[in-house]
Amino acid sequence: MQYVTLNNGLTMPQLGFGVWQVPDDEAYASVKTAIEVGYRSIDTARIYNNEEGTGRAIADSGVAREDIFLTTKLWNDDQGYDKALAAFDASLKRLGTDYVDLYLIHWPTPAHDTYVDTWKALERILAEGRAKAIGVSNFTPTTLERLLGEAEVTPAINQIELHPYFSQGRMRALNAEKGLLTEAWSPLGQGKGLLEDPALVEIGAAHGKSAAQVVLRWHLQLGNVVIPKSVTPARIRENFEVFDFELSAEEMERVASLDGDGRIGPDPDEFN
Ligand code: NAD
Repeated sequence: MQYVTLNNGLTMPQLGFGVWQVPDDEAYASVKTAIEVGYRSIDTARIYNNEEGTGRAIADSGVAREDIFLTTKLWNDDQGYDKALAAFDASLKRLGTDYVDLYLIHWPTPAHDTYVDTWKALERILAEGRAKAIGVSNFTPTTLERLLGEAEVTPAINQIELHPYFSQGRMRALNAEKGLLTEAWSPLGQGKGLLEDPALVEIGAAHGKSAAQVVLRWHLQLGNVVIPKSVTPARIRENFEVFDFELSAEEMERVASLDGDGRIGPDPDEFN
């Protein structure tokens, strides 16, 4: 495993495991498998409705809580100072833990204009030691610059949609300039057409690796934190086996050349 260091000195595994669209009981099984395979970072959210299964899997895993890096996120209708504090308490209760490693604002929802107040609540949660780091997700240049102008604590991470068909060069550069790590969601482009891309398949064949492993390796070499999802044990394992090969500069360029307007999710400046 490789680790990255957040702007507050905390370290986190560069490769983690995501559980979006996984029902609670299946999340329990998947997270247990992931921890057995060796993952030590798990990404959930209130809106995924699987914080309970995720928390139980961690508790039952046999790995100490302090050896797992646990992320959850605050949903849009919990934005605002008081609501955010209550939402955090409820997430902790469902997760069955007394702290999270990283707490994120899930979307800026700019039309509601509540993310600055929400951030103040996250700063308080951080000061209380109940989150070891706080960050944001789906923040754009507009929303991130505004937040930084008002924040006392710079977010540790901006978790954004990022894969070879939508590689977010501008946002990655801005995150880096401001001291935030970039975390890639849907890092495999949700598995759809991306993993059949002939260039990725060909690069993989040269290394005895799959297209999914090539994509994850590309993320790691770019410096992204990455949280692929699978509920299939063989794929959970496959996605973890990405530390025993390296892409050449030429191969990195070839993957980068696939970049385009391949956004899958909503535009965060429009999503409320
Ligand atoms: P992903 O890019 O990780 O793709 C997952 C899908 O790819 C799987 O369902 C499966 O169909 C396929 N797949 C996985 N491994 C494979 C393999 N080895 N070979 C072939 N196919 C494979 O998509 P995701 O779940 O959208 O994103 C990952 C995580 O990011 C989520 O689980 C969640 O934790 C996080 N996320 C966050 C946000 C946000 O708004 N912050 C949004 C979406 C996802």
